[in-house]
Amino acid sequence: MYTPGASGSDDRRAWRRSLRLLLEDPDILLIVATPQSRTRPPRLASLSPMTQEHPILDANRRFADGFDQGALPVRPARQLVIVTCMDSRIDTFRALGLELGDAHVIRNAGGRASDDVIRSLIISTTLLGTREVLVVHHTDCGLMGRSEEELRALVAGERGSDTSDLEFLSFADHQTALRADVEKIRASPHLAPDLLVSGYLYDVHSGRLSERVPAGSSS
Ligand SMILES: [Zn+2]
Repeated sequence: MYTPGASGSDDRRAWRRSLRLLLEDPDILLIVATPQSRTRPPRLASLSPMTQEHPILDANRRFADGFDQGALPVRPARQLVIVTCMDSRIDTFRALGLELGDAHVIRNAGGRASDDVIRSLIISTTLLGTREVLVVHHTDCGLMGRSEEELRALVAGERGSDTSDLEFLSFADHQTALRADVEKIRASPHLAPDLLVSGYLYDVHSGRLSERVPAGSSS
C-alpha cells in the first residue's frame, strides 16, 4: 500500500498512478479527507454523550450532594467586601478565615478600584449592608510592571484591535496602586462617608497578608 507523504520520485509516480486508477474505477467511491478548519467548531453530534459535558458539572454534582448552606441570608454576615485580583493562586475565603456568606468578593485583573468595582460597592453597601472594604493586592501580579502602552501594543499585535478607549489599570508598585485604590473608594460620592477602607498585600508564595494602608474613612 502506498502512503501519501513518503519521499522519493518513484513513490510519487506510484501515488499518481494509483490515484488515476482509483478515479477511473466506477466501482470505487472515493472519499477525500481534508483537514478540518481551525475555526470550525467541533461537531457535537459526533461526540459521545460523556464528552459533551464539561467536567465541572461532575464536580458540582458531588458538591451539591453534600451542600447544606442553602438558607444563608443574602446580606454578608461580616458586613465586609474584599476587592482583590483574579489571580488563580488566591483562595480569598480560606486565606482570610472567611466562611460562606461572610463577605462579598469583587475580583478583576489587579484588584483595582475600577469604575465597575465602584458600581458593585454601591450595590454592596447600599442594598446589602456592608460597611467595610479591604483592597487586597498581591505579589507576582501579572498586571504589575507593565505600561498601558505595552498592553495596548500586545493586544494590537495579537488581535489587530485598538484598545485606546480601555484603561488596563496597570501599575508600577503596590504601595502607590493600593493607596490610589483605597483613596478612589473613599472619595466616591456614591459611597457612605463612614465606609471603612483599607489596603493589604497578599504574598502568593508565603500565603501571608500584610497591611499597607490602614483602615480609615472619608469622614
Ligand atoms: Zn494579580
